[in-house]
Amino acid sequence: MWKKVLIANRGEIAVRIIRACREAGLQCVTVYSTADKTALHAEIADESVCIGPPVQDSYLNMNALISACQNTGAEALHPGFGFLSESAEFAQLCIDNGITFIGPSPASISMLGDKARAKETMKAAGVPVIPGSDGAVTSVEEAKKIAAEIGYPVLVKASAGGGGRGIRRIDREDQLEEQMSVAKEEAKLFFGNDEVYLEKLIVGPHHVEIQIIADQMGNTVALGERDCSMQRRNQKVLEESPSPLMTPELRKAMQEAAVRAAKACGYYNAGTIEFLVDDDRNFYFMEMNSRVEHPVTEWVTGVDLVQTQLLVAQGKPLPFTQDDIEVRGHAIECRINAENPEQGFRPSPGKIRSLHIPGGPGIRVDSAVYQGYTIPPYYDSMIAKLIVHAPTRSQAIMKMRWALAEFIVDGIDSNIDFQLRLIKNKDFEAGTYDNTFLEKFLADSKNDKDNGK
Ligand code: ADP
Ligand code: MG
Repeated sequence: MWKKVLIANRGEIAVRIIRACREAGLQCVTVYSTADKTALHAEIADESVCIGPPVQDSYLNMNALISACQNTGAEALHPGFGFLSESAEFAQLCIDNGITFIGPSPASISMLGDKARAKETMKAAGVPVIPGSDGAVTSVEEAKKIAAEIGYPVLVKASAGGGGRGIRRIDREDQLEEQMSVAKEEAKLFFGNDEVYLEKLIVGPHHVEIQIIADQMGNTVALGERDCSMQRRNQKVLEESPSPLMTPELRKAMQEAAVRAAKACGYYNAGTIEFLVDDDRNFYFMEMNSRVEHPVTEWVTGVDLVQTQLLVAQGKPLPFTQDDIEVRGHAIECRINAENPEQGFRPSPGKIRSLHIPGGPGIRVDSAVYQGYTIPPYYDSMIAKLIVHAPTRSQAIMKMRWALAEFIVDGIDSNIDFQLRLIKNKDFEAGTYDNTFLEKFLADSKNDKDNGK
C-alpha cells in the first residue's frame, strides 16, 4: 500500500524501524537534528532530512515533521517511542494531512494519557486496579478521607504523568497537605496539568507488563509478559521474559485482563499494559502506553513487533491468533547506557574510540553507535540494548554474563560493569527481586565502598 515511511525518531529505535521497513519492501526517510548529522539513523536511511536544532525544534517539531513527509512523499510516519509517540495532537495532525500514523488512534492516546481517567475506564471494564481515588482528587479533605479508607502509605500521582515523574509518597495524614501541593506543582511544571489522583502504595511489588497487539478489526492478542522490576528511579535497567514469578494461571489471567483493557479503549496497534503484582500474586492495572521497544517479547514469542505494527497500520488483519502464541525459552535485556554508575549515573557523552559488540547464537544487539561516533549530550544516555535468549533462565543468565564481559566500549563511561554485577547478584539469580531491589543494591554497594570493601 505505501512506498515510503518516515521515521520520526533517532537512536537504536530508529535503526530498528529502518530494518523492519526494508524487510517489508518499504523505503525509509529519516529526520535528524543538527546535532545528529553523523548519527547512524541519518546515514543508513534512503533519504534523510535535517529538521532543526535539538531538542524542541527537531524531533518534537510537529510542523517540520509533517513538511518532511510532504517533501519526500512519505505516506506513513512511525513515531518510535518517546518524543511525539504519545501525543494525540500529533497523531491527529498526521491524519489531517493524509499521513498514516503508525500507532494507536488519537482518541486512545488521549484517553490513556489521562492516567486517572484510564484507571476509571479499566475498573469499569473489570480490570483489577490499585485501590485509590475514583478519578482525580481536588480537595485535601477529600484526599484525607480516601487515604484513611485505603490506608497509608499512599501515593499521589499526576494524571498526566510519565517517565517516573510526578509521583509522591505519603506515609502519614499530617504529610498529606504539603505533599499533595508539591505533587500538584511538579505536575503543573512538567506536564502543564496539575490534576492528581491517589493510590495505595503496594509494598515490594513486581512490575510486570503485558504486551498486546491489535488490528483495526478488533482482534487483540497478548504476547506474554515482561518483568521490569529492575528499576532505578522508576526507569527500567534490565528486563526479562518470562517473569520469574509467573505461573501459567497468572499469565492467563493477566493476558485476559490486558486484552479487556485494550478493548475497553478501542485500542489498535502495539500496546503495553503495566501491572503491579504483589507477593500473593494479586495483580493491579497501573497504566497503559504505546511504547514499542521490546526485543525480549519478540524473542520468546517469535513475533516481529514492528513488522506487525506496519501490517495493522495498513488496515490488515493480524497474521496470528492467540492460540498461535507460545512463550518459548527465556530472554533477558540489559540496557547499555553511556553513564557513570560510580558517579551517580552521570551521563557520559563523547567519542567512542573503540567498540566491540558481542555476538554468537542467542545474542542480539540493537544499537545506533559505531566506532568513531560522538554521542551528543542532548539525548537520553541509552546506546544499546543487549538481549540474550536461551532455553532456560539460568542458561540465559550465563549467556548474558559472557556477552557483557565481551562488550567493549572505550572513550566514554558505560554501565557494562554495573550490569555485570547485577547479573551475578544472588537475588537476581534466584529471581526473587522486586521493584525495591535496585535502590537497596545501590545503597549496599555504596556502604561496601565506604567501608573499604
Ligand atoms: P509512569 O507513568 O511515570 O511510568 P507509573 O504509574 O507507571 O508511572 O509508575 C512508575 C513506577 O512507580 C512503577 O513502575 C512502580 O515501580 C512505581 N509505582 C507506581 N504506582 C505504585 C503503587 N501504587 N505502589 C507501589 N509502586 C508504585
Ligand atoms: Mg509506567
